[in-house]
Amino acid sequence: MKDRTISVHGGLEIDKTTHSRALPIYQTTAYTFDDTKYAAELFSLERSGNIYTRLMNPTTDVLEKRMALLDGGVAALATASGMAAITYAVLNIASQGDEIISSTAIYGGTHTLFNDTLPKLGITTKFVDPDNFVGIERAITSKTKLIFAETLANPKLNVLDIEKLAAIAHKHGIPLILDNTVPTPALLKPISFGADIVVYSATKFIGGHGNSMCGIIVDSGKFNWANGKFPELTEPDSSYHGISYTQTFKTAAYIVKARVKLLRDTGAALSPFNAFLVAQGLETLPLRMKAHSENALKVAEFLENHEKVSWVIYPGLKSHKDYELAKKYYPNGCASMIGFGVKGGKICGARFIDNVKLLSHVANIGDTKSLVIHPASTTHQQLSVEDQIAAGAPPDYIRLSVGIEDPEDIIEDIKQALENC
Ligand SMILES: *Cc1c(COP(=O)(O)O)cnc(C)c1O
Repeated sequence: MKDRTISVHGGLEIDKTTHSRALPIYQTTAYTFDDTKYAAELFSLERSGNIYTRLMNPTTDVLEKRMALLDGGVAALATASGMAAITYAVLNIASQGDEIISSTAIYGGTHTLFNDTLPKLGITTKFVDPDNFVGIERAITSKTKLIFAETLANPKLNVLDIEKLAAIAHKHGIPLILDNTVPTPALLKPISFGADIVVYSATKFIGGHGNSMCGIIVDSGKFNWANGKFPELTEPDSSYHGISYTQTFKTAAYIVKARVKLLRDTGAALSPFNAFLVAQGLETLPLRMKAHSENALKVAEFLENHEKVSWVIYPGLKSHKDYELAKKYYPNGCASMIGFGVKGGKICGARFIDNVKLLSHVANIGDTKSLVIHPASTTHQQLSVEDQIAAGAPPDYIRLSVGIEDPEDIIEDIKQALENC
């Protein structure tokens, strides 16, 4: 099936008793067991089936299957938020004493997770510029468990050269984990370029309507966890009668472990109602990403030609440093995020944000509605100016998440806001 078909039908089997056409919301905590033997087999993972909604839910299951199909992975795990998905993606293979390598161009919340919270668990992060491939390779030690980066970084909007980074990771026997929140699988499928694990804040474009939090981890099923570096996946797990994830679950070892260990033990489970809303959003994802990208290109071109604008970054513009890479990785559109600076710096930028009427001033991206924010005073406020610049959010940076309204109306609003700066 092609993307637009998967988005609508993927993972859903019509319920045999109700014949419900829409995805049913299984608003239940628990599931009845046929008998005690059946229950015992479920609990020891000898049999698969529903136990308790912290671990699995039939509505969430459809969302997970649909995402795995869209991304070309073996399986997926949905979580309560994007941050939970990123936390689990790392903790699933890194523990006390280990190191990870992360791109500097990442979401503010991910930066603080890696910089402040993971060190408390004994996991340290080396941050390297995503274009510095020599530096990335040099940062790898025998303790390094993974490389993490964003495909189209929020907010830096640099285009990651996935194939190059995957080659470095695989040469050293470690997986490449990519946050693909901004392009979504509708515009970019990281697994097809060598990513091993893909994470999403489905709160953004996938849900797409700014109404529910959700995270997703997709497992490519391609990484060889049995290369000696990942004993937690190969050695007997005493909390499940000594099973080995790689021996029992083969290519799905990573994603099964994330579910039955991390989700079970720390509990950032998605609510079935949110799974329904996100799956509903997913039905129109390819259509929306096309509209978002077309609108964003028009807005970026308008900004680039406006006298009050000092600079614009959008990977679909010829002036973008990664324009050639963008043509390779994003032939169907460069998504909806634009960064720009207003002449007069931070003060005029603040005035621009106060002047917009149609655009909403919110700490979010990936809504049908056009959104605007000043990262340095909000999402990236906790970072030093140096780290803000490294993350791609210098003090005068204004971030737009262009919605799917009529582009003329969006441009009209931006125009009046600029004129009154
Ligand atoms: C929003 C965002 C996250 C965090 O996701 P939540 O759903 O808000 O927890 C992670 N990565 C990127 C790129 C994001 O934009």
